[in-house]
Amino acid sequence: MITKGKTPRSLLVLGAAVLALMLQPKGDVGSSPSEPRSPQPPHSLRLYVMDCGTLHNSDMGRYHLTKEDVATTDMSVACFLVVHPRGTLVWDVGAVPDSDWKPTGSPVNARVVLPDSQEREVTVTKSLKGQLAELGYSPPQITYLALSHYHYDHTANANEFAGSTWLARQVERDAMFGGKPSGAIQPSSYSALRDGKTVILASDEYDVFGDGTVIMKLAPGHTQGHQVLYLKLAKTGGVVLSGDLYHYPAERTLDRVPTFDFNPDQTRASRVMIEGFLKKTGAQLWIQHDFVGNSKLKKSPSFYE
Ligand SMILES: [Zn+2]
Repeated sequence: MITKGKTPRSLLVLGAAVLALMLQPKGDVGSSPSEPRSPQPPHSLRLYVMDCGTLHNSDMGRYHLTKEDVATTDMSVACFLVVHPRGTLVWDVGAVPDSDWKPTGSPVNARVVLPDSQEREVTVTKSLKGQLAELGYSPPQITYLALSHYHYDHTANANEFAGSTWLARQVERDAMFGGKPSGAIQPSSYSALRDGKTVILASDEYDVFGDGTVIMKLAPGHTQGHQVLYLKLAKTGGVVLSGDLYHYPAERTLDRVPTFDFNPDQTRASRVMIEGFLKKTGAQLWIQHDFVGNSKLKKSPSFYE
């Protein structure tokens, strides 16, 4: 009902809402009119552990180990979202591209065929994009993409993040795009990064947000520019995400280096350097492929802070 001579209250409320919208600051970083708004940034650093599947290994010889040396031959495939007050970083993006399968709520067995005809069995339950969406993010809203290294089980969804800024090592990028593909890699999964926004990291340590809480550390050997990620969390304390510095805890306790590392001596030197860093900082090491260790971590949408 409209009352003559008096602006109805509902119109006043609407007017105030329109005014509020007009007064909102423009140029919200990382979103465009067609994109939904990113969630409000938290006041302190958060780390989300995402489930990117389970990799079934049959050949322990590739790790200079036997079945008796390990609790299980299965490997976790972990993806991580780091949410900082100044932006977001996705670290490693899985073994099976989301576009290759449909989540059903139950585990799905996927067979990954690599360019050199090597095959791998991976069980996946949740898509990476689905886990990000659960937190209110879509790939175009992610500020930075970083890969511990370019092996297929870390790059599956890299193309989805071609709109993010890729934080890359020059030697790693050269290996990815320069030579002939070899080893356990899937170049089609990261091809879109070639022409995306890229920051080449010039120093061994790269402080992503400039406050010392998220630091990428060069730890070469497994690949040319392999790196680990150090997080300084307010409540949890320091955590180092291993990349593939180790795969199985037994590599650490028995001092074994995989047969397929790019440079085993460099791997050993990187391990010594990172072990020293762990001692110095008191940080925990989370071995990303450690099935038992990973199963004890809380998973997204829960988070570490
Ligand atoms: Zn791996």
